[in-house]
Amino acid sequence: MHRYFIKTPWLARVLFPSFLWRVNTKQKEVYLTFDDGPHEVVTPWVLDQLKQYNARATFFCIGKNVVAHPDIYDRILAEGHAVGNHTHNHMNGWKVTTQEYIGDVSKASKFIHSNLFRPPYGKIKLSQSRQISSAMHLQKARIVMWDVLSADFDLSISAEQCLQNVLQHYTQGSVIVFHDSEKAFTHLKYTLPLVLKHLHSRGYTCRNIEYVR
Ligand SMILES: [Zn+2]
Repeated sequence: MHRYFIKTPWLARVLFPSFLWRVNTKQKEVYLTFDDGPHEVVTPWVLDQLKQYNARATFFCIGKNVVAHPDIYDRILAEGHAVGNHTHNHMNGWKVTTQEYIGDVSKASKFIHSNLFRPPYGKIKLSQSRQISSAMHLQKARIVMWDVLSADFDLSISAEQCLQNVLQHYTQGSVIVFHDSEKAFTHLKYTLPLVLKHLHSRGYTCRNIEYVR
């Protein structure tokens, strides 16, 4: 038994209705997201894959990785993708104080210019979520969760299972999570090209999460 849900339970969506779980759309479109980059090898590889299908995605970047790879961060934006804040040090909101958490989000916001925020591990306290906008120096930030987890980070499953996690659970408007990280690359190398090919063959468009400012 895994310690995570591939498909987000409806209860989570009901309890946190202000978070974005899935885009409400009647179009054949999905929202691929990539967390934890930029990574010097994995992120350029992901960008090359997306380019082949003219697909757009959203990259939830870790602040310290943007500091380490500013050129890759610039490439993400130059190629029409969106970025989001994923804290500066990949903090688990449940394990730190609200003050610490907000300080880390604020630090990342100096390097990541976006109104989108995704909490690492999907773990955030209500008190933290209420202060995200001010931490990002915005009127209104948008907290983006997901409705399909590829579980590309889980090396105890096969790459084929990772692929099926996505293909069997996505629907119109799904927000799908991948990781442009070294750990996930093992599964991503196999899964991402096949996901893109599948979506293309079904007439789906991959879009980025638009800014709501
Ligand atoms: Zn993460």
